[in-house]
Amino acid sequence: MSTDGTLTPDPSPAERERGGLPHAGRGEGTVTDTLNRPLRDLRISITDRCNFRCTYCMPKEVFGRKYRFLPRNEVLSFEEIARLARIFVGAGVEKIRLTGGEPTVRRDLPKLIEMLARIDGLQDLTMTTNGSRLVYMAEALKAAGLNRITVSLDSLDDAVFRAMNDADFPVSRVLEGIEAAAKVGLSPIKINMVVKKGVNDHSLVDLARHFKGSGHIVRFIEYMDVGNSNGWRLDDVVPAAQTVAMIDREFPLEPLGPQYRGEVASRWRYQDGSGEIGVIASVSQPFCRDCTRARLSADGKLYTCLFASIGRDLRPLLRSGKSDGEIAAFLAKVWSVRRDRYSEQRSLDTPGLRQKVEMSYIGG
Ligand code: SF4
Repeated sequence: MSTDGTLTPDPSPAERERGGLPHAGRGEGTVTDTLNRPLRDLRISITDRCNFRCTYCMPKEVFGRKYRFLPRNEVLSFEEIARLARIFVGAGVEKIRLTGGEPTVRRDLPKLIEMLARIDGLQDLTMTTNGSRLVYMAEALKAAGLNRITVSLDSLDDAVFRAMNDADFPVSRVLEGIEAAAKVGLSPIKINMVVKKGVNDHSLVDLARHFKGSGHIVRFIEYMDVGNSNGWRLDDVVPAAQTVAMIDREFPLEPLGPQYRGEVASRWRYQDGSGEIGVIASVSQPFCRDCTRARLSADGKLYTCLFASIGRDLRPLLRSGKSDGEIAAFLAKVWSVRRDRYSEQRSLDTPGLRQKVEMSYIGG
């Protein structure tokens, strides 16, 4: 029985043999959705908690003292996360990104990374962090098997940064964390800035200048209507083209092509050869047609879009003795009927009408 109450036929012996996938197993191609998008990337939120309260993601007014975070027994254990990750890799996933909330607030994180790094067939293991704990965790994360890291940094202006993270956390500590990560070889580091008009857009060229020539890649993210809590307005969005133009005026840029299908950022290189930047334009230049990303919440729900309303609960399957093949069959079924392309349809959506999952619950 599937978790949404509808009866899903058990996989045939042949399908069970192939690990439950109706039409794909490793090497035979990957599960694809209704728009022929393969399942390639899995983002795993390992906690819904965070030590920041970024105003565009986890505003204090909503995620305050009374907010009910997931109780421990509802959060997947490391063993459950690793088991699901193995099954997803069997279904074609090549890259796993650990997210949160803030993944470094989950205790013993290096242990989980070790377990995931051992998965046969996984090609890339990365993590997105707010960088607040990197200065003392970078070495252990690298030693455990993490390949790369992405650090969120919304401004170099300390007052602006403290206001945006709303935890009064200094920018200097995040910069120290980036240095520590680079020192242990978690490079090149990607640095994500969410650009909000009238809040930090005046400091985006400063951020580009700071990391230009460092080998690290700054990605400028259009402010998005994720979840239901950040009071998003289109007027607060700085279109990516404008961001590129602002940087180009000082540091001439030229476009670069994508490195692989489903790459989220559009890439621009500095004409003087000192590196590149990226822009992530979900609002002004949606990229749903190549979206190969699935998301797993910390309590085991599978979401097929960042802006989804409903997730499919895998935890009961894990805890009720279903085989890997049966869970794989369920995953394949969910993905094969996927038709998400929210960003392309955003303008058709009536703001506030549909309850969307919170980004802090499934990761960005
Ligand atoms: S809006 Fe949904 S379908 Fe489109 S790119 Fe984002 S996660 Fe993918």
